[in-house]
Amino acid sequence: MRAIFLFFIIFVLFSCKQKNANDETGAETKATTELDEIEIIDVHTHFHNDRNYLNDFMKERKMKTVLVDVAKHNVSDSAKVKRSWKDYVALANKHPNLFWLCSSLMGVGIDTPDFAEKEIARLRKEIAEGAKMVKVWKNFGMVTKDKSDKYIQIDDPRLQPIWDFLKEQNIPVMAHIAEPLQAWRPLNPNSPHFGYYSDHPEYHAFNFPKIPSYETIIAARDNWIANNPDLQILCAHVGSMSHDVDMVAERLDKYPNMKVELAARFGDLATQESEKVRAFFEKYQDRILFGTDFGNSGDQANLDSEELAAEREELASDYDRLHTYLSTSDSVLIRGQANVGLSLPTDVLKKIYVTNATDLLKL
Ligand SMILES: [Zn+2]
Repeated sequence: MRAIFLFFIIFVLFSCKQKNANDETGAETKATTELDEIEIIDVHTHFHNDRNYLNDFMKERKMKTVLVDVAKHNVSDSAKVKRSWKDYVALANKHPNLFWLCSSLMGVGIDTPDFAEKEIARLRKEIAEGAKMVKVWKNFGMVTKDKSDKYIQIDDPRLQPIWDFLKEQNIPVMAHIAEPLQAWRPLNPNSPHFGYYSDHPEYHAFNFPKIPSYETIIAARDNWIANNPDLQILCAHVGSMSHDVDMVAERLDKYPNMKVELAARFGDLATQESEKVRAFFEKYQDRILFGTDFGNSGDQANLDSEELAAEREELASDYDRLHTYLSTSDSVLIRGQANVGLSLPTDVLKKIYVTNATDLLKL
């Protein structure tokens, strides 16, 4: 019995190896032909500072990105918001062929009677400065509170005039609401998010019982999407449901105004069967956009030429890794998760990399 079992295992291993070898040959052919021609739009980046290699780097890769504003409560004064907007506008003006802009909305001051009016005036100005999209962040639901000391959820009716304005302007909202489910679980060294929650314990909701549950925040997010069927909503980070593509599919079926982007959640996708994830990508090929969350920080003047070269190298290998996952069936390791790539057909890749973004953002 044991001998038969052993034989079976060897047979399975051998046939898998054969399959991979064949797939790799096929993938290589594909990679050297049409794939080199595919342009890339990364809808979720944070290049805070200019670099002398950025222009060549992005031109070589036929790549453009959206700079997504980072807005956070000021550490010393939570009534104030610290943003990247001005730096991003300057960078996009300097490199109009490389970058587009995404503004942001926080709920700070939501109790004041002219809150919506003021925010609309600001957004109107920022749309005129080039914003193609407006981001809402996980501070909704998890951080920002109103005067009654309640966490402000994204379906709060006080925000409604702003959604109506954005609908009228035909500007989509990028929604990073909630966190991966892992944030509400004990720190797990095998999770793709172990590194992030080790470095950012302030967002590890498991340690803060007062933070509403994952289910509460996701339900508020779903309610908001359902209440605004004419507002285009791009759920960032696979809608904080990247651990389970079925959960994402359920929402995409329910809400025609919802799309998802992939930033910083490839590791979660790699924890699931590649066959299953591939089927998800094929079925929802018109609703998935490529995003990474890649970026930089710090002035170039503080980096010597070696450090600058290493930064460029790392960025290249980060993009290449994701491309390998999407376009080939090779083995990949993403955030400690080993799997084989999705080997998506070229027409699907083109939608995810380019046309879904140009359609949504009217580029
Ligand atoms: Zn981001």
